[in-house]
Amino acid sequence: MKPPAHAAARCAICARPVEPAYKPFCSKRCADVDLGRWLTGGYVIPGEAAGEGDDNPSDLDEES
Ligand SMILES: [Zn+2]
Repeated sequence: MKPPAHAAARCAICARPVEPAYKPFCSKRCADVDLGRWLTGGYVIPGEAAGEGDDNPSDLDEES
């Protein structure tokens, strides 16, 4: 008699049955996907003003 405990766990990415080797995911691929979400999701930087220190001081008073 085996309790169907393994039937409860599902991959958070694709909802397939979880593989014990890749818990809590069904495969390494899904584990990587989750990791990628963490990395990209945590790397959201509120648009920093582009062009800081990029205003070129026109030194053109040599050839007037
Ligand atoms: Zn999956």
